[in-house]
Amino acid sequence: MMAQRVPLTMGQDIHSTDLTEACPRKVLLRHEQKIEPVATTALFRGVLAGKCLEYLHTGLSFEQVREGVAGIANEVVSELAAEGRVPSDSVEKNLGQICHTVCFVAGQYEKQLMPLLGQCKLIGTELACRLTLGDIEFASHMDLVLRDTNNVLGYGPDRLIIADWKFRQHVPTKAYLARYHQFYLYWLMAMQGSVQAYPEVDGWIDYKENAQMIWVHLPNLEPYKRKITRHDDEGNLREYAKGEDRPVSSILRDVNYKVECASQMCHDLTERVNMMRAGFFPKIADTVGCTVCDAREFCTRADTVELLENQ
Ligand code: SF4
Repeated sequence: MMAQRVPLTMGQDIHSTDLTEACPRKVLLRHEQKIEPVATTALFRGVLAGKCLEYLHTGLSFEQVREGVAGIANEVVSELAAEGRVPSDSVEKNLGQICHTVCFVAGQYEKQLMPLLGQCKLIGTELACRLTLGDIEFASHMDLVLRDTNNVLGYGPDRLIIADWKFRQHVPTKAYLARYHQFYLYWLMAMQGSVQAYPEVDGWIDYKENAQMIWVHLPNLEPYKRKITRHDDEGNLREYAKGEDRPVSSILRDVNYKVECASQMCHDLTERVNMMRAGFFPKIADTVGCTVCDAREFCTRADTVELLENQ
């Protein structure tokens, strides 16, 4: 007999990672707390980068971030420890290199993006946000929320901007972002839900606004490694030299959701939650995903009997 699966229960908050995980089985294993208690280099680097960028937006200069990066890394270690994770051996061994990489990215962010983003009014970083759809409660955190009072980003004056810092390998395509459930959720939270917009307001606020969603692709802050021909920010093809900064449009990847699509977006999110509540968590194996999956030690496989669910 197969071990009984515990479906997500009513009243349990649904987090954005529950919706965006490519493999549903990983969601189940994470909810059952069957994950490796180790923070990989990729995870550690991403969290450290987010912390450093938060400090840049909330008043520290790049020099202060660079000088304080070891202390910021210690903060990350403490936060991960609170989640029951410890840095992997690789993180401990390469901490200096990780800090160096993150500082480089933060420096490029300060140079290329802060002249734009710094002109917007900061609403906050790492803001708690909520949305209720029927009997489903969604909860998450937004990396960066801004008000573009002077239309420096070009999406319209006073546009609410929700940006997410991503230290991922693959650049998101328009086709992907148009279907990306984490952004659906954030956008719906701004449109129909609530954001704990501290320090702008000391409490929850219902914006009821059509926010502009932006994926900030941090790896593209690295200059080109070879001579290359690409479109610049004006849309003209031009040749970039080795070592030259990439255009801002390759770093800030936007998607403009339409208000008319809101009910379809709600349907897509609730459909996924209903699948999980019904106890369906199929494995969707992936050549790379399974290799780096932090639940793989608990995920049944067919080449050994030790990991069968009925053992
Ligand atoms: S090991 Fe593969 S199939 Fe199993 S949970 Fe992870 S990603 Fe899914």
